[in-house]
Amino acid sequence: MAGPTQIAVPIMLGHVAAGQQAAKAAVALGANLIEWRMDSATPSAVEELFSDAAVRAIPWILTVRPTWEGGHFAGDETGRLRLIKCCLEYHPAYLDIELKAWVNNAAISEYYGSIDVQHRPQLILSSHHFNSRPADLHRILDTIANYPEARVAKIAFQSSDIHDALDALELYESLKQYPRLQGVFIAMGEHGAISRTLAGKFGAAFTFATLPGGLPTASGQPTIGELVDVYRLPEQQPDWAVCGLVGWPVMQSVSPQMHNAAMKEMKFSGVYVRFPLPGDGAAFKRAVKRLQVTGQLNLRGLSITIPHKENAYRFVTELGGVIKGRDAGVINTILFSGDAPPVGLNTDAPGGLQALLRGAGWREADLQGRRAAIIGAGGAAAGLAAALAEHGCQLTIFNRTLPRAQHLAQQIRRAGGTCDAMELGKLQLNEFDLLVQCTPVGMHPHTDAMPIPENSHLRPGTVVMDTIYNPRRTKLLQWAAIRGGVCVEGVEMLVGQGALQFKGFTGFNPPIGTMHDAAIRALGI
Ligand code: NAP
Repeated sequence: MAGPTQIAVPIMLGHVAAGQQAAKAAVALGANLIEWRMDSATPSAVEELFSDAAVRAIPWILTVRPTWEGGHFAGDETGRLRLIKCCLEYHPAYLDIELKAWVNNAAISEYYGSIDVQHRPQLILSSHHFNSRPADLHRILDTIANYPEARVAKIAFQSSDIHDALDALELYESLKQYPRLQGVFIAMGEHGAISRTLAGKFGAAFTFATLPGGLPTASGQPTIGELVDVYRLPEQQPDWAVCGLVGWPVMQSVSPQMHNAAMKEMKFSGVYVRFPLPGDGAAFKRAVKRLQVTGQLNLRGLSITIPHKENAYRFVTELGGVIKGRDAGVINTILFSGDAPPVGLNTDAPGGLQALLRGAGWREADLQGRRAAIIGAGGAAAGLAAALAEHGCQLTIFNRTLPRAQHLAQQIRRAGGTCDAMELGKLQLNEFDLLVQCTPVGMHPHTDAMPIPENSHLRPGTVVMDTIYNPRRTKLLQWAAIRGGVCVEGVEMLVGQGALQFKGFTGFNPPIGTMHDAAIRALGI
């Protein structure tokens, strides 16, 4: 019976001392296996490498990858076999041989068969495709499985969309017909991220990771720390629920760190991953339907970001799902529960409102009659303005483009709120109890900018919330703090919206402090 998925760190043997150091560092961080890439190694370098007892003790994969399969070994097959034989003296746990070599070079299989059983490493038969997903993925798996010596089938291919990543994961299902075999199925590149981050749940023999700051040997490799600390790879179980972020781009998002930290703390049997998805509504629908029907995934919930918030709304309503909370035609969360229609909700505005109340030390009732200035008239402003108006705030929308402010103010009035619109330049701050900044002005890297003149007059005690979270303290907040303003950082809104999603995904009350710390750490702010 196979054990939990191991974390393998590939190290290309060059400078021996650096390689030894890297191997020890990898193990200290949580790696279980080193893939020693001996492509350019000399027998003396190999001897020197394993003269270190601590390095010798680390289980390892022997790979001498030829140039014709994306590696660096440029010699002929006879020379490669000679190098392999020399390395085998140091007893690797696994030997990786390309399927093509195994099929075409009888000398390799004959030699492998001649190794005495006690010292024979487990055979990985591998197949690499650096341009695209091969059309005949399952045939490749069947071919590998036909060789009784094979213990691990490794297939790696360049992915171009989320479907490629799901194809890789589905190979684990096909593998079940070959109980003797384990699998390592990797969709390389950004689109294939889940083939690595969910490797534990799907029962991969191992998955590859890099050292922090190290160069990946294939695109898309996460760090050991990400796999262990963020995605809890060694703990993942087949029945774990999956939640994730759908959007494009998503690699910069800190939602995985925030949600996974909370899941870990609450001991929730699930994991939160990135689903990179460019494209339009049709692409969204196709991808999310596929996620839904991939039974082994056990999809529980999705966070939705640019450019899919409207697509997600259409997806849920077309399937007869319910929109919970304020219905503004955009949602940032979808919840799934078995075969029931999905539920859509938008946690941006309520999460922002809760963050504001926490930061100001107010209860909802304290908003009644407060004069609030909103800067901006985009999506964030519209959500927060509606939430504040619902609680009785008297609003004025200040925007660079007046008609957009007027349009939003009209929407708020139609819904029963009190709301005016003015050009941004007309803002007299001392007339307000509350300022909510909803433009990108002051966001990294333009951290010296603020949306109002520095000689504006702020009354001490005025609550100032900036929706920007990078930097954590925008110039506006620094300016307001000096003048006695009560400041609420944008990261609080980020955590607030995530916390409401977490509740929906897991049913647990969100550990806000943990989510906050994880977000701050991941943002590096
Ligand atoms: P949006 O829909 O594109 O709206 C942007 C708004 O900013 C518009 O009103 C726009 O005015 C105004 N604006 C843009 N550049 C400006 C400039 N140079 N000077 C003055 N006004 C300018 O964007 P959004 O989705 O509402 O997001 C706005 C900000 O909210 C983002 O930058 C983000 O930092 C923040 N946000 C934070 C969270 C969180 O969780 N903390 C969540 C969502 C959003 P015009 O109408 O004149 O173009």
